[in-house]
Amino acid sequence: MPMCWLISEGDSHKPIRLPHQQTVVLGRGPETTIKDKKCSRHQVELKAECNKGYVKVKQLGLNPTSVDSVVVGKDKEVKMKAGQQLLIVNQLYPYTIQFKEDAARDHGGTKRPPELSSEDRESRRQESSLKVAKQSESGHEEATKSSESFGHWSQGLKTSMQDPKMQIYKDDKVVVIKDKYPKARYHWLVLPWQTISSLKALSKEHCDLVKHMQQVADQMVQQCPDANSLRFRMGYHAIPSMSQVHLHVISQDFDSPCLKNKKHWNSFTTDYFMESQDVIQMLETNGRVDVKEGTSELLKLPLRCHICRKDIPTIPALKEHLKSHFPS
Ligand code: AMP
Ligand code: ZN
Repeated sequence: MPMCWLISEGDSHKPIRLPHQQTVVLGRGPETTIKDKKCSRHQVELKAECNKGYVKVKQLGLNPTSVDSVVVGKDKEVKMKAGQQLLIVNQLYPYTIQFKEDAARDHGGTKRPPELSSEDRESRRQESSLKVAKQSESGHEEATKSSESFGHWSQGLKTSMQDPKMQIYKDDKVVVIKDKYPKARYHWLVLPWQTISSLKALSKEHCDLVKHMQQVADQMVQQCPDANSLRFRMGYHAIPSMSQVHLHVISQDFDSPCLKNKKHWNSFTTDYFMESQDVIQMLETNGRVDVKEGTSELLKLPLRCHICRKDIPTIPALKEHLKSHFPS
């Protein structure tokens, strides 16, 4: 029977063996080298089913563990296969699993983790990225196809925001870039220079910054040649796929070949999209941004037109329907 290994995508430590049908509990600690206080010492329970080719992933900690960006949920369990990506907590600390024939045991040796050459490692990374791409949950798939070969795909915005060719506005606090895979005719991202991983990391002290991001977003809309005919929304994905907090400024035509699936659609047209004004208000009143439980489920809702609320069966039909609201 093959042996199962849990592999840190960031190469932060050697692979961890997941013995067949034995529970392995991981979280913050020396084994994973995770020091993040948001990660419980008992964050996930993993149980490999080596003959079936998957690992059962159970979230034990309070903060979200996810598989391919979909949150598992406290005390819930999902199956993870090779090629999928486990993010231990808050969309961070990526891992994949690998099943390997137990060659060492066949030859009477001790069990050793798979030795991967750097080439193997790179092709594994690409392979896993491509599979992740196919199974993508919201927006991260695109980054895997592009030139961000260094670093993990989830860091792609940090690369883009530093690239003068991508920048369309900047001041001492923020930068605006075009979304690389726009989901509408106009789609920009406003990012702070200050490193802030996600909405969860925001507190009262960020109020002014987040208000400034909103002001810059307003300016972007005002200077848009189609501002009179198109409506815009500004907001954050409740569970982002990309690291570094970013405000989406997006026209409501959703007329774009990059809008490809239900998850894309629902991430911009349900409460998964948190209005910038609401985020500012939450920070002012509670000093933090709360994401409601069950938010990840919103991505699975049936397709519905955001203008006339009509249910539409498929993405191609939706695109056709949108033409009636937004003639080109
Ligand atoms: P989310 O993290 O779900 O809020 O969405 C991330 C957004 O970043 C998506 O709209 C992607 O199209 C976009 N994106 C992904 N990679 C890049 C990149 N390297 N540069 C610019 N935008 C990107
Ligand atoms: Zn409609």
